[in-house]
Parts: sequence; structure tokens; C-alpha cells
Amino acid sequence: MSDAPKSPSQVPVGVDTTRASIARVYDAFLGGKDNFEIDREVLRQVATVAPQVTDLAWSNRNFLVRACRFLAGQAGITQYLDCGSGLPTAENTHQIVQRLQPTAKVLYIDNDPVVLAHGRALLEENDQTLFISADIFKPDEVLNAPGVKEFLDFSKPIALIQNGTLHHYLGDDAPDLIRQYAEALAPGSYVVISHFLDPETPAHAKTARALEERFTHSPMGSGLFRTHKKIAEMFGDLEMVEPGLVLCDEWWPDGPRVKPLSQIEECIAGGIARKN
Ligand code: SAM
Repeated sequence: MSDAPKSPSQVPVGVDTTRASIARVYDAFLGGKDNFEIDREVLRQVATVAPQVTDLAWSNRNFLVRACRFLAGQAGITQYLDCGSGLPTAENTHQIVQRLQPTAKVLYIDNDPVVLAHGRALLEENDQTLFISADIFKPDEVLNAPGVKEFLDFSKPIALIQNGTLHHYLGDDAPDLIRQYAEALAPGSYVVISHFLDPETPAHAKTARALEERFTHSPMGSGLFRTHKKIAEMFGDLEMVEPGLVLCDEWWPDGPRVKPLSQIEECIAGGIARKN
């Protein structure tokens, strides 16, 4: 397979102030402070499609929080490989899972220089958390990075998390990439994926296409809204946990829905699968 980048994010932004970074743009969407003008410009450009565009980031993050609670609480997982951790926010993976599984280990991977500079100290909070810089779209690089196999025991179940990352991968071999990760995991492991969705419905497909057009032509340069079928393929032959791949907001919501989903909330999906 060619080593040519299949996503702008595989070449870290570094000191290039003309490029927005995914981590900083996401931080801007979540109302954080670790972002620059170029990142807020992406938010402004995408917000022209729909005013509630920040729902995309909140639906994604809230799904991650509920997924972590399920993995630690119900599935009893004590090892986490969180690919594309993002900048630290209110509730990070290790805080959620260590509340339920105090001995849980969390290995964060990201390649963004700001995440490295500001996030590392906050995410590496105790000796059960580790932060490593690697390209999450190169499973070999992640799995063989120094320290990974020492920190996590690959003979025991691990939750592999690719939350809000794969829509930034522009290649069409994302299923192969997840398969390579899954092959390295022990039976009883889980895979979590959330992804921008083209719902292919008359009411929302147009929104998804417009969002994709804005994201991919913004200074960030990526953000694909793939169909349910394309995202489902990423789970390969792993067994989907109920209710399967659904809208992030419909994956075991915290309570009954009393207001309809926004058009933006209809455009992001998530799911969890188990390796048997
Ligand atoms: N996973 C978190 C969540 O769901 O809340 C953060 C998602 S954020 C949208 C995507 C993260 O993936 C960013 O922090 C970005 O730096 C990281 N990322 C994107 N492409 C990457 C790559 N090729 N290698 C490593 N990290 C990458």
C-alpha cells in the first residue's frame, strides 16, 4: 500500500498558521479556548449552512461519554486505545472510565502539536494514562509505537476508539484500516466509531452535502459525510452492540426525547461493535 497521505491531518499542521487544525476547530465548536482565528474561520464558514452546526461536535462528544460509560460499566473494559484524543475538555475518556473502573488504563494517540503541547500534561494525569504521538490512520505505526505494547496488554480485551476521526480520512480503505486494528485485539475487545453521516433522506441529505462541501473547502480541508452503508462497512465482521450504527443522539440517550433532533444532529452517527 502507498504511504502517500490520505488525509490532510496526516501531515501535522505544525507552525503553518494558514491551516486550521482538526483538534483546534473541534475545540472551537465545543466552545473551548485553545483555538486560533483560522480555526474559528472554519466554524464561521460551516455555520453558514445551519446555525446549530456546533451540535455536530456536541452529539459526537456526548456519544463518546455514553460509549465510555457502557464500556467501563457494562462491558467491564479496563484498557482503552483512544485514537485522536483531541484537546482535553470537561470529560475525557480516562476520567469517565476510571470513575467506573479505577484501575483502567487509557492510551491516547494524537498527532496535533497543540494537543501535544497543552493536552499531554492534562491527559497524562496518572500512571494509568499515557499519551503517544502517532498517525492514527496508520495502524502499524500506532500498534508498533514505542511503549504501546508495554502499556496495554494485547492478550486481554481493549476498547479501540476512533471517535470523530475517520471522516477526516479521505481514502476509501477505512474498513481495511479498522480491520488491521481489530486483528491486533483479543476476543472480547470493542471498537467504537462515530462519523459524519449523509442520512440520504430528502429532508437532510442536502444539509449533509452542504456541510461536507464547506468542511472540505475550508482551511481544515477534510470532513466527509459518508452514508450509513459506508460507515457500517468500517465495523467489518465485528458483532454490533445494540442498537447498531445509529445517529449519535439515538445511541442509548440519557433520557426520553422531548424535542426533535436538529438537522445537524441528523448528520452524525455512531456505534460500538464487539470482537468475539
Ligand atoms: N475523539 C475525540 C472526540 O470524539 O471527542 C476528538 C475528536 S477530534 C474531531 C479528532 C482528533 O483526531 C483531533 O484531535 C485530531 O488532531 C486527531 N487526528 C486527526 N487526524 C489524525 C491523524 N492522522 N493522526 C493522529 N491524530 C489525528
